Order: sequence, then structure tokens, then C-alpha cells
Amino acid sequence: MSKSITVVGAGLVGSLVSIYLAKRGYKVNIFERRSDMRKQNMIAGRSINLALSDRGWRGLKGVNIDGEIKKIAIPMYGRQIHNKDGSQTYQAYGKDEQAIYSVSRGEINKMLMDLAEQQTGVNIHFNERCDKLDRKNNTLHFINLETQVEKSVQSDLILASDGAFSAVRLQMQLQSDRFDYNQYYIDASYKELTIPAGPNGSFLLEKNALHIWPRGSYMMIALPNMDGSFTCTLFFEAQGPKSFESIKTKADAIRFFEEDFPDALPLMPTLADDFFTNPTASLVTVKCKPWVWDDKIALIGDAAHAIVPFYGQGMNCGFEDCVVLDELIEKHQNNWPAILKDYEYLRKPDGDAIADLAHANFIEMRDKTADVTFLLQKKIEARFSAKYPAKWIPLYSMVTYSPHIRYSEALREGQRQQAIMDKIMQMENISDKWDSDEVEQAILNSL
Ligand SMILES: Cc1cc2nc3c(=O)[nH]c(=O)nc-3n(C[C@H](O)[C@H](O)[C@H](O)COP(=O)(O)OP(=O)(O)OC[C@H]3O[C@@H](n4cnc5c(N)ncnc54)[C@H](O)[C@@H]3O)c2cc1C
Repeated sequence: MSKSITVVGAGLVGSLVSIYLAKRGYKVNIFERRSDMRKQNMIAGRSINLALSDRGWRGLKGVNIDGEIKKIAIPMYGRQIHNKDGSQTYQAYGKDEQAIYSVSRGEINKMLMDLAEQQTGVNIHFNERCDKLDRKNNTLHFINLETQVEKSVQSDLILASDGAFSAVRLQMQLQSDRFDYNQYYIDASYKELTIPAGPNGSFLLEKNALHIWPRGSYMMIALPNMDGSFTCTLFFEAQGPKSFESIKTKADAIRFFEEDFPDALPLMPTLADDFFTNPTASLVTVKCKPWVWDDKIALIGDAAHAIVPFYGQGMNCGFEDCVVLDELIEKHQNNWPAILKDYEYLRKPDGDAIADLAHANFIEMRDKTADVTFLLQKKIEARFSAKYPAKWIPLYSMVTYSPHIRYSEALREGQRQQAIMDKIMQMENISDKWDSDEVEQAILNSL
């Protein structure tokens, strides 16, 4: 008889992992706290988008949904930097047609839920909030948020994909005397704003780019939507003299944008209202251990590794968890103690690594994308990498376009490259001779 699996949370990762499991013949039930988003009128809702890259595509391809998602994905081939003086610069993300893709969070989640239910027979139970775990009996306790009816669900295996503030993880923490838990917030919070479409659904900024307005300790980004609009995210200190807290009136908000984002302001007619209607949310990193309990309870996705969004990898990493789990099911032929042991062994270092990389990229996007020395370093690296692709894959490419390189390997290799570049950037007159044989040879000698 096949195992029964309970998945907690029908978000991006819970829906995808359920498809993988059901395809392997398991009987899967998902319990989701929210109501069914497919039945809600989302037309008036705000569009929130995510950057999908190669690791995420690999996860979708594994269940043949990549083609459908491609239809609603907009390629972004580089960063369009908006300087304070109104000038703009463009930095390609990689070589040739390498791109990351802007996709609607809601649409991709809906498609995954459809596929889970219609093609693989997964049952999704909505409005069911998990609030307790009985470890001994492998039983979860849920309360229905519409009817208040409580129920207990016993299953062979529990996968917790209930996000950054996972209820299952909290139960593990409370019921264990050796559960490592590290949670930290960065000073910046975020708020989603919008640049609506122009006439006839036209894009008012370059469509195929991720737009960044770097401003030192804060920044705004914008990703394109299929309807011609852009979703902007303002990352800004939560508190302090210049912060979300210090902007108290609509006039303050307009003044802030006039000063810092003068080219965006005319494109944002609803800014003053949006600023006070849309929520301000915090950004948390969570690292924890163990991810697996008793060979039958495991954390996956943000529940295992919540990270800040600055590498655009949270969902991608969660999708990669699903791929690795599926490969291990194949490898260990449904021997779950072995599958889960390897899953934690392989994924925990990668979850920690992408958390550190994401945090470092926050600093890079915020402080350095407009920095002349940084841009020169990137130019040198790009030139060298183009000439010696086997010797030097830029860190961004390793993380974003190289799913065969583990995040933990990318982190290590990135640190090695940075140490080399620190020396190269100290070379006399480096800005004049950055493309010389001398610089090239110096890098080759350091490798
Ligand atoms: C501002 C921002 C931008 C981001 N941009 C990107 C990006 O560009 N690219 C990228 O790859 N990632 C991005 N991410 C990260 C990405 O959103 C997450 O990594 C991803 O959503 C994780 O999926 P998940 O399924 O693990 O968790 P979630 O998407 O959080 O889903 C968890 C699900 O569990 C449900 N749930 C929660 N508690 C309970 C409970 N007690 N009982 C039952 N159900 C419960 C929730 O309702 C939800 O449906 C971004 C995150 C933020 C905050």
C-alpha cells in the first residue's frame, strides 16, 4: 500500500512538491490556511511578481508545466539602473540570451494547484489552519477557519511547506530540546507600489529588464507584468530619520519620490494613495536544524529556509528542494528514512548558502550597482569569463543560470573570486588598463 502524505500549505512549494509525490503514486492531501485563490475575484487585486530563473524552471520542467508558465513569463535580460540624476545604464545579466523571468505569483500558484488536483489527484483542503503536531502519532491538528470545526489528520509522512512562519516548525521547536533556530530581520522593510500600463497596454519602461533605482541604504525595483504594468518594490529602512516611519503624509511620500525617484514619479499616478493603502512588510531570514524528524516529518521551502529576496531565489530554491527530493525518491526506491536523511544532508548547506548570498546581494544591489569601482570589477570579470568560460563563471551566473552548481559551491567559489578581484582592483591605473593582457595574466596567475 502506498504511503499517505500530508502537505501543510498550498503555496508555491507545497503545490509543486505534491505534484512530484502524487506522480510517484503517493496519496497526497494538502491542507491550506487560506481560501481557494482561484475562486476569488483577483482582477482588482494587486499583481505581485517574482523572478523565476533556471533552478525554478528545472523544478517546473520536471512536472511538464514549464511550457504553460513560459506563456505568462516575461524575460528580463539585464538590470536597467535608474540614477538619481535621471540617467540610466544597462547591465546585461549574462551572455547571449540569458534571462530571468518575471511571473505572477498568483498565476503560477493557481496553475500548480490546478495541475495538482486535475492531473495527479491531489486533494487540497482550504481554510484549514494547522496549529498542532502530535509527534508520537504523526498527527496534525487543523481548525477550519470558516466553520471552526477542528480535525486531526494522521498520515505516514508530513511535509511542512507552510512558509517562513511555519506552524509545523514552531511545533518542532517547542517539542524538542535540541532544535537550532536562528531568525533575523534586516533593517529594511518593503512595500509594493505600481507603475500602470500606458495607452493600449504599452510598457512605460523597458519591458525586458529588471529596473533598479539604487539609493545607498535603500532602493526601488520594478518587474514587468503581462498587462503592461510594473510592480515596484520599495526596500526602505523601517525606522529612522529617513524611513517608512518618517513618511507620515501623502505630501511626504510625493516629496520623497520627487527627490529620490524623479523619473519614476510621473509614471506612478496612484503613488500617494498606494503608499498608505499597501502594507509595509518585514524581511526575515530563518535558518534552522533539523529539517527532518523521526524519518517522517520534514520541512521544505521557506519553512526550512526563509531568505531575503535580493537574489530572487526563495521560490527557485524551494523548487530545487522538490527536484532533489524527487531524485532521492528515485535513488532510494521509496526508502523514506534514507530519502529524508540525504535530503537534509544535501539541502541544509545549500539553504544556508543562499541565505548568505541573498543577504550579500542586498548590499550589492543597494550600494554597489551605481558604484564606479564595482562596475569596473564586473566589466573585468565579464571580459575574463567570456574569454575563459571554463575558468570563471561569475557568481550571479552560478546562482541564477547554473542549476548543476550547488548554492554552497557557488558561495565558496564566489568568495575565492572576490579575493582574486580584491587584488586585481588594487593594481595601479586599473581603470586605464582593465582590458589589458597584464590584467588578464594577473587573474590567470591567481587561479
Ligand atoms: C518581497 C518578496 C519578493 C520575492 N521575490 C522573489 C523572487 O523574485 N524570486 C524567488 O524565487 N523568490 C522570491 N521571493 C521568495 C518567495 O516568495 C518564497 O520563497 C516562496 O513563496 C516560498 O514558497 P513556499 O511555498 O515555501 O511558502 P509560501 O509561498 O509562503 O506558502 C506557504 C503557504 O502555507 C500556508 N500556510 C501558512 N501557515 C499555515 C498553517 N498554519 N496551516 C496551513 N497553511 C499554512 C500559506 O497560506 C501559504 O499558502 C520573494 C519574497 C518576498 C517577500
